[in-house]
Amino acid sequence: MTAGPTREALDPARFLSNPSTGRMGYALAAEALARGAEVTLLSGPTHLSPPPGVNLVRVTTADEMFRAALNQAPGVDLVLKAAAVADYRPEERARRKIKKETLRRAALKRRGPDRAILLRLQPTPDILEELGRRKKPGQVLVGFAAETGDLETNALGKLRRKNLDLIVANRIGREGEGFEADTNRALVIDRDGRRSDLPIMTKEAMAGRILDLVEPLLAGGTGRARRRAGAPEEGAS
Ligand code: C5P
Repeated sequence: MTAGPTREALDPARFLSNPSTGRMGYALAAEALARGAEVTLLSGPTHLSPPPGVNLVRVTTADEMFRAALNQAPGVDLVLKAAAVADYRPEERARRKIKKETLRRAALKRRGPDRAILLRLQPTPDILEELGRRKKPGQVLVGFAAETGDLETNALGKLRRKNLDLIVANRIGREGEGFEADTNRALVIDRDGRRSDLPIMTKEAMAGRILDLVEPLLAGGTGRARRRAGAPEEGAS
């Protein structure tokens, strides 16, 4: 399980990031634990407390998350990639804080209206795409998509391009959905094209609904009842 944002530093005082709180990923980790799974949570910086019993690995940058994910993935049955990983990072990270005066002087020296400061960015590795390439038989890969428009087309494109088994697509930029909200609404599409519209609900409730859709994809997955902690084993009287 991955959760939270990543941070890509410009200098020791500044970074590029996004408003992900990690709540959806932490809720999924808690729900998977409650269903009896052994859970490793690769978490970007968040203020949340990890669910008790989780194996927590803290990371900061997309590169660190990439290395941690590649390290963990070969040993797991299910990968849920709820983290909002930065797609770009600054090309250079200054060792000392970049002074405002230095940048201003450089900008003001330019003639004409273009006094922009240029920030060069480099792409980060796409972790999920790499995990899709390396997917073992039977392993289930679940991705997330945050979109401002064309939810279904974008989600289907990612499902195929990244070799996913299921994608959970959220609309961002609306109240009560996506980043920073306590609630979420999602369109879930599986590898066979089956769609489920999950109405607005808390991220904890949504974690349950998502895992209900994931469980049948797992080898030997026979649905929620048997795996629920405390539920009797199939065939037990
Ligand atoms: O293509 P896009 O970045 O929108 O896809 C989102 C999905 O890909 C999420 O599940 C996210 O965790 C994952 N991702 C990733 N590595 C990146 C960027 C996104 O694993 N560098």
